[in-house]
Amino acid sequence: MPPTMRAYQIVEWGKPAQFNEIPIPRPGPGQILVKMAGAGLCHTDISILQSPAGFWPDPPFTIGHENAGRIAELGANVEGFAEGDGVLISSMYWCGHCDKCARGLHEQCRHIGLAGYGVGYDGGLAEYILIEAKHAIALGSLDPVRAAPLADAAATSYHAVKSMLPILVPGSTAVVTGVGGLGAYAVQYLATLSGTRIIALDTSQTRLNEATRLGAHEVYISDGECAEKIRDSTSGGADAVFDFVGTTPTLSTGMAALSQGGRLIVAGIGGGEIPIGWEKIAMNAGFINTRGFNLPDLNEIVSLARDDRIEMAATHFTFDDVESGLRALEDATVEGRAVVTFD
Ligand SMILES: [Zn+2]
Ligand SMILES: [Zn+2]
Repeated sequence: MPPTMRAYQIVEWGKPAQFNEIPIPRPGPGQILVKMAGAGLCHTDISILQSPAGFWPDPPFTIGHENAGRIAELGANVEGFAEGDGVLISSMYWCGHCDKCARGLHEQCRHIGLAGYGVGYDGGLAEYILIEAKHAIALGSLDPVRAAPLADAAATSYHAVKSMLPILVPGSTAVVTGVGGLGAYAVQYLATLSGTRIIALDTSQTRLNEATRLGAHEVYISDGECAEKIRDSTSGGADAVFDFVGTTPTLSTGMAALSQGGRLIVAGIGGGEIPIGWEKIAMNAGFINTRGFNLPDLNEIVSLARDDRIEMAATHFTFDDVESGLRALEDATVEGRAVVTFD
């Protein structure tokens, strides 16, 4: 192994990220050195790159938080993994030992904050990444390049859908608002794992066509009349609405489309607000903001991907070309996830 590697780093707020030659870290006890294979680019990366000082943990650090690769070196006391194994790396930096983590509720970890791989700690836009073994998920036969988007986008969506599966029995209806990225995964999970009828809402007919291909039964262009259309087509409202947009209009539509006992599950960070109160929403209805995912979620979506039960659409960029990938993401010209590959 060479002593140094290239890493795409943010060195100072307000300055563009840059390639730096830095030492390859060595794994200590409980740690794993992973040779990167695939790194998904995310809107959070753009928000970090454009951020003023004071919000995110301070640089310098290597960005990239949707990471997968192969184990290059194991630290002491790491069980269950071997050199060469493919691993997915959780983008959530849970502690693994608090009461919430002990119950498998890693998304609610008492010690979780903004920091993680690619945010404060060095991330995956480098030839190697040093991780804690507790954040590694075995991929088995799944190609790490294909797996990369599972570390964040696909997992957030899965966590939202899984929590509602007990009520999404045959005869029920689930609405997915915003069927790009996360929402396209939600449609697939609902189609694969539940008997619910799926209604997709989006402003783009192209994305709605794709949602139909992935399993949506009804699709509507988002407008002010969607709630009524949903209430009509479901004889009284949907059992669950998953909102991956989160603006005031989409939240209002979602809440108005709920049946009695329905749930509005919001993962979109659109910053919208709606009034909530005992008399303001459908009887027995609920509002849930969902954020993050846990270790069981990651293992489960890896299984789904390995068995070819979900599609992970991606456009690949070489590591040298990472800036083209970020630009394409910003210009919304990427098909599926933008994934940086390494050789
Ligand atoms: Zn992300
Ligand atoms: Zn914890």
